[in-house]
Amino acid sequence: MPALYLHIPFCAHACPYCDFSFELLKGGQVKRYLDALDIEMAQRAKETIWGSALFTTVFIGGGTPTALSRDQLDKLFSLLHNHFRMAPAVEMTVEANPETLTRSKLTLLRSFGVNRLSLGVQAFTSVSLARLGRHHTMNQGLRAFEWARQVGFENINIDLMFGAPDQTMVDWDETLSRTIDLAPDHVSTYGLTIEPGTPFGHQAEIDALDLPDEDLHIDMYNRALDRLISAGYQHYEVSNLARPGAVCQHNLAYWNGADYLGLGPSAHSHIEGHRFANVRDLKPYLERIETRASIVDLDETLSVDERMHEFILLGLRQATGMDVQAFQHQFGYEAFQARRPSIDTLTESGFLEQNGTYLRLTRRGLAVVDSVCERLM
Ligand code: SF4
Repeated sequence: MPALYLHIPFCAHACPYCDFSFELLKGGQVKRYLDALDIEMAQRAKETIWGSALFTTVFIGGGTPTALSRDQLDKLFSLLHNHFRMAPAVEMTVEANPETLTRSKLTLLRSFGVNRLSLGVQAFTSVSLARLGRHHTMNQGLRAFEWARQVGFENINIDLMFGAPDQTMVDWDETLSRTIDLAPDHVSTYGLTIEPGTPFGHQAEIDALDLPDEDLHIDMYNRALDRLISAGYQHYEVSNLARPGAVCQHNLAYWNGADYLGLGPSAHSHIEGHRFANVRDLKPYLERIETRASIVDLDETLSVDERMHEFILLGLRQATGMDVQAFQHQFGYEAFQARRPSIDTLTESGFLEQNGTYLRLTRRGLAVVDSVCERLM
């Protein structure tokens, strides 16, 4: 049941908080990139594991895939369908930013079998959109959603971001209210993190960003969970909520250790505990493909410790929690017992709880997931 990820490293604008691998759209670059992808796909399709696979999930992310023109998207999907085979019930997701969408692009996506749209809305208030440096308006966000429904998308995710500079709880509540009114099938909600080297990172260094304090940040996260759960969403992972039946299968494949193929710069692949990653940036990716040099920058087999860490992290991030019996089965009783003192302390402090044979984060623990996991590593 392998998954496929395809990276589109282009954006129409740069968001000031972003440290993903992307380039601003420039004429000629996309054609060169699609030609390079054609070569990478052909190489991967020769490997039996991928060439004979029936992919059950496909995720086209970025960057901004929908920054490509209609003709470029047409070419991209033709390549994908030429080189790989999808399962009949494949979940095929495309990430989109509202300002890059047209009804005609959405119709094209549907015609190529895309059945899930992930909309990078982030906020439904003009103030937060401006403070996050986004290039769409609130109305463009609403209109993109409406168009997607009109052309037949029955599975739409909305990405939201809290903790924007100067953001108040009133502002965040307004975004949540509009989201709930739209009734998307899936909501991902992330707190803004300040990454070094980004414009926000530089502003934070000179104290020029007025960010919500830690307590308000946690309150905003909890407010999102409370309101979305009351509206009927199932909270299935730290940052992800879905209506019944709309859990993202591609995410689940990653979290449950499935094999996956990543295409394009910075994309990662995984085959039975063996992980490899393509070179991060577009320029070396293109140069290496064009000279038939290897694009693989990292090629590693996970050590037992790394696999244990991944097991804990991926398990605890999910609402069901970490399967203690499966952990002991894979890594031994001793490995679990070695963590027992930390588990007991975290449980007594209200960050963890036992649910049958599962160990899971409490609401208090969910808000500080990274530090809880660190204590168990
Ligand atoms: S649209 Fe997404 S990938 Fe592009 S700059 Fe903004 S956050 Fe980064």
